[in-house]
Amino acid sequence: MSKAHNFLSQLTGLFAMPCAQNPTVAMVEAAYRHHGLDARYINCEVSPENLGDAVRGARAMGWLGFNCSKPHKVSVIAHLDGLAESAAVIGAVNCVVNRAGRLIGENTDGKGFIASLRTVADLAGKRIVVLGAGGAARAIAVEAAMAGVASITIVNRSRARGEEVVALINDKTQARADLVVWNGAFRVPEDTEILVNATSIGLFPDVDAKPELDWHGLRPGVIVADVIANPPHSAFLRAAAARGCRTLDGLGMLINQGVIGIALWTGVDVDPSVMRRKLEELFG
Ligand code: NDP
Repeated sequence: MSKAHNFLSQLTGLFAMPCAQNPTVAMVEAAYRHHGLDARYINCEVSPENLGDAVRGARAMGWLGFNCSKPHKVSVIAHLDGLAESAAVIGAVNCVVNRAGRLIGENTDGKGFIASLRTVADLAGKRIVVLGAGGAARAIAVEAAMAGVASITIVNRSRARGEEVVALINDKTQARADLVVWNGAFRVPEDTEILVNATSIGLFPDVDAKPELDWHGLRPGVIVADVIANPPHSAFLRAAAARGCRTLDGLGMLINQGVIGIALWTGVDVDPSVMRRKLEELFG
């Protein structure tokens, strides 16, 4: 009679709520199939009150690791054995890795974004403007600071959230950060080298919305990136491209998070183009 572990693939997955169809599942499974990895990535609906039991379940079943999305990114920390450096600074975890039975929290949101940005720019000494101060903006700002950018301007509607991110960067990293409270069209400073939309503006189905900016300061050739993966060609990126800027879509961030997560779980560096094809198929 076969033992359970003979017919179970190595498990990884996503702890999310609510558990709608998630493109990450299709993307990661496409990479597993392409590389012949005997692993599965499953979507699990986990309510906040069951998070501790879900983590204990993953531990008991020897999962290689899992991602967690909102609202679990902060609360999951209480159930883990340790944190990687940037996850500790950011104060949020979206990827958990089983290292010899110890569950370690990583944050791949910002790492995925920076990996995408590095394909077009050297970040050392750069001046970056980040629109937003939510979870994605915080992760991007911390990783950009750790990657050596010189200055980060956070532009956010709510002062309190913006101040929190600015204090975090100034207190915990070598980069200098300042805040602009977003109230009407924000004029992009002329010395900006990288502009990032890290707000949720433009996310499907609100596809015509774009951040309220006075684009006059923005020079052609500046790198303009969006966290919005659906649609990949956001209204924000289309407006930036029309001004001659170099654009980076949110698919790159999502794909690189997958690449980093799979490498942490399995040790295999997967081909990002397989995942991009799958996402482009899904998002049209
Ligand atoms: P949060 O809810 O934590 O933050 C949202 C941010 O957007 C806040 O700064 C908020 O400002 C700002 N915002 C929202 N609406 C407006 C508006 N109308 N005008 C001005 N500012 C606005 O979300 P997350 O940071 O977790 O996620 C942000 C986006 O990033 C989401 O759309 C998500 O899909 C995307 N994302 C993409 C990833 C990828 O791999 N491509 C990975 C992770 C996230 P305020 O503080 O004032 O409310």
